[in-house]
Amino acid sequence: MHNSITHDSITVESKTNPTSSESVRHAGASTVSVHAGEARQKANNAITDSICCSSTYTFESTQSILEYIQEKQDREEYGRYGNPNEKVVERKLAALDGAEDAILYSSGMAAIVGLLMAKLSAGDEIVFFDECYHRSREFCFKHLSRFGVVTHQVKTGDFDAMNAAINDRTKMIVSESPTNPHLTVIDLEQFVALGKERGVETLIDATLATPFNVQPLDYGVDYVWHSATKYLGGHNDLLAGVISGSREKLDPVRKLRGILGCINAPHSMYLLERGLKTFALRMQRHNENGQRVAEFLESHPRIERVYYPGLASHPTHAIAKSTMKGFGGLITFLVRDADWKQTAAIIDACRIPRIGPSLGGVESLIEQPMVMSYFDYPPEQRQQFGIADNMIRMSCGIEDAEDLIADLEQALSPS
Ligand SMILES: *Cc1c(COP(=O)(O)O)cnc(C)c1O
Repeated sequence: MHNSITHDSITVESKTNPTSSESVRHAGASTVSVHAGEARQKANNAITDSICCSSTYTFESTQSILEYIQEKQDREEYGRYGNPNEKVVERKLAALDGAEDAILYSSGMAAIVGLLMAKLSAGDEIVFFDECYHRSREFCFKHLSRFGVVTHQVKTGDFDAMNAAINDRTKMIVSESPTNPHLTVIDLEQFVALGKERGVETLIDATLATPFNVQPLDYGVDYVWHSATKYLGGHNDLLAGVISGSREKLDPVRKLRGILGCINAPHSMYLLERGLKTFALRMQRHNENGQRVAEFLESHPRIERVYYPGLASHPTHAIAKSTMKGFGGLITFLVRDADWKQTAAIIDACRIPRIGPSLGGVESLIEQPMVMSYFDYPPEQRQQFGIADNMIRMSCGIEDAEDLIADLEQALSPS
């Protein structure tokens, strides 16, 4: 099947002169979101991909099995190794990330576990910037350690400390960008330069940035990780995770996924494919809402501080501005002179954002990290992770910015 837009080439050929190389140009993010990875003509001549529910796939004859094995034919064999709905989404995500390949998993966490299990062996070491997803930290310290892999954490953005933590057993350095909840943006050029200089692979968790706002592979990062549960799915109705990178580097990772078995059901992949159709449109609105709500909060007398990379006051604003198209919908802010209960009262007074964990969906969400994720941590540990009692994290959805601002205004006004 020939597609004018494929995962190998996200270029759109000009209809007027398809043979001239000058007429080939890169498709924009929205065109890629809508079309990339999909066959032009589909089953039953439908415009959408049908949901292909099959746990196994049959062969016409023994001869066709041999052809599949010997000629490495591109077809399905058994459901644990993949399904047609998942493959379409993998191609679409690879195109969005500008990657050769992308592997989907049943959650973001399954993706990082699958990657690290494939890449690390007993005696290997890995170094993280410390503001990272708490479950990745837990997986490394509690579980990879049982298999003899050593994890180091250094202060986020401290490249000297990261350099010092690398030794000849180090295999990989890892960072989120932007980080959560302080939205620190990492200098990807510096990150990649350090990895190359020390001969270690690089992994970026770009869940908060999304491929719309930054493409870490362009900087030479080896692996990009996204929780597709967030902006990629975008509708708070599914869990999935993805690792993008070169086919060569991902080949053993895909083979291990076939053993781990954490792949996605066709129904959920249909939802993800459908959600991705509006990915670029949604990101434009998330970026716009994030910026406007952050500016409103920064100007509000009850707000002590706002963390948002699109604000000039953010410590990594300059890096963010030079590397990102927009800054997403996630905002963290501190309420002036408020204890945890006074902070909670503001959250409870909101009428539009729903109270809950997660981010990146069309519905705005609001939460107090101290309560939602760190309530049973000792105060010293919360302080170490920078989780203040008066901290609120809001994920701006795609509602109208004026409505979100008016709602926050009423929630912040003294009752
Ligand atoms: C949610 C999230 C994850 C984990 O993804 P799941 O899909 O929930 O497993 C990892 N990293 C970041 C930055 C996230 O926000």
